[in-house]
Amino acid sequence: MKRKVSQNKKLTYTPHETLPPLSTYKTTWDLATLYYKTENDPRIEADVSYAIKAYETFAKRWRQKPFTTDPTTLAVALREYEALTGDPRVSRPGRYFSLRSELDASDSQAEKAQAILRKRLRPAADKILFFTLELGRIPVQVQHVFLKHPELAHFRYFLKELFVGAKHDLTEAEEKIIRLKAPQASHLWQEMTEKLISTSHVTWKGKKLALPEALETIDTLPSVEKPKLWKLITEKLDTFGIPAEHEFNAIITDARQEDEVRGYKKPYSATALSYQHDEASIEALVSTVSTEGFKLSRKFYKLKAKYHNVPVLEYAQKYDTIGDEPIISFDEALTVCRDVFYRVNPEYGHIFDTMLENGQIDVYPRPGKRGGAFMSHGTGHPVQVMLNHKDTLKALETLAHEMGHAVHAHRSALNTPFYDGHSIVTAETASTLFEGLVYDAIIEAAPLDTKLVLLHDKITRDIATIERQIAFFNCELEIHNTIHEHGAMTHTELKDCMYRHLKSHLGESVAVRPEDGASYIYIPHLRYGFYVYSYTFGHLMSSIMATRYKADNSYRKEIDTFLTAGASDSVINIFKKIGIDTKKPETFATALAAHAKDIETFGTLVNKRTRK
Ligand SMILES: [Zn+2]
Repeated sequence: MKRKVSQNKKLTYTPHETLPPLSTYKTTWDLATLYYKTENDPRIEADVSYAIKAYETFAKRWRQKPFTTDPTTLAVALREYEALTGDPRVSRPGRYFSLRSELDASDSQAEKAQAILRKRLRPAADKILFFTLELGRIPVQVQHVFLKHPELAHFRYFLKELFVGAKHDLTEAEEKIIRLKAPQASHLWQEMTEKLISTSHVTWKGKKLALPEALETIDTLPSVEKPKLWKLITEKLDTFGIPAEHEFNAIITDARQEDEVRGYKKPYSATALSYQHDEASIEALVSTVSTEGFKLSRKFYKLKAKYHNVPVLEYAQKYDTIGDEPIISFDEALTVCRDVFYRVNPEYGHIFDTMLENGQIDVYPRPGKRGGAFMSHGTGHPVQVMLNHKDTLKALETLAHEMGHAVHAHRSALNTPFYDGHSIVTAETASTLFEGLVYDAIIEAAPLDTKLVLLHDKITRDIATIERQIAFFNCELEIHNTIHEHGAMTHTELKDCMYRHLKSHLGESVAVRPEDGASYIYIPHLRYGFYVYSYTFGHLMSSIMATRYKADNSYRKEIDTFLTAGASDSVINIFKKIGIDTKKPETFATALAAHAKDIETFGTLVNKRTRK
């Protein structure tokens, strides 16, 4: 394989594989072909009427009939329920209009249509709520019988999950009250802080910058400027100390009290259950990364300080790149990604091409289009990927990441509707697997100088996913426990907590100041109930899978077993099937090996440069 990086830093990539030619492809979502012609398409009304009738028919058939007394009747009821929840006609109108809103926030027709749909479909969907509630009330003795019954074999995992979850259910009246009180107990508080941030600004070089914009601008500044703007930002954040303190005390106390009422023992028990994951596995991850992982990030920052020839790096300079990253056009990005996807499995390459040809990938930014990137899937619907592509390395990584999600969605769709989704943690494993393989392909053949830049940037991004997220996890856990024990925390205490955890993973070579602790105010993820660990978990698991695949290509079989498992089993069991024990701390220690090796290589390259 030959690859050249020309003077203007454009990346020219020569694929390993003989790629099938790509016919003309679309760069915008073709919703008219994939869903409905327009908002006036008569098929929309037909589908809505069909959905309302389908819910009614199901409710009429099963509401008055005992369906939880014998396995045969239960199997019939479950089969019908699975067919109904997985019927694409029921969800197609809602999906069509919500996708239109993503493409254009000012699409008022789409917004109105969604409001009307909600009004018509929600009461219809509510008619079948009795079904799962009734299933949850099956006595434990009978549950055991059903879980072993051959006639219910297909529904075993679905029922098992439902029975476990039902242990934490309250009465219908209590559930209703909790749902009614949720906005004022939590969401409205979060919105207050978000609004404070989005409506405030700092003055930078004589120009007013909204705080979210200022946070984005930092990345684009020359290194020496970064700490100056960051100081303005933290000073501004600090002025929101009192509202933020009240927000945290309110939402954490609310979460804790609800956990107690529902019988969850640990602050992250509810999260583990809703991710189909396991507390022991989360604990093994957190303890290993907090010890072995933090050693690695501290080591890296020591090397980075040496590279820059400074005793310590400023906090705002921690992600500073060390050179120019290559410019990569979308076509170039496609070549790299298709090469990697086809190499892992021709089927994945084929999925990639089909999505391009069918207009399932919306590529470029446009006015009104929502920012960022995501993949969206639903039973019986085309998979959609949204990007906001610019010719950067970051955008290539995003393409690989979202297409990794898309391949996972396609392979999972081989399961029946109950099992064709996936846990947040397996989803992030699939996406980071492809992202990592694509990044490695780019690094592999780059000339030495570019290699050093790419490797450096990969490590800083890995640290942001591995160590930083676990530092956040530790911080969130400390906040939970402190508020629970002492009743409340002050802004100064919250700031100090964040400061200590930032320091814990960055070490002595990064000058974290107590003021940097005000970051806790603007990081929304700290409010999502330990969600932060899912990134780290996915990243580390995908790292193990990538290492095994690179050592022996036949591991692609296991990769496919993983991708096709969907939501048919628990996260622990899905990984067990491909030879990964996610309950053992050693597994996470092994997973850190690739990260450790990258840092070691970086160290060698830095030393080579120093000697030159
Ligand atoms: Zn993702």
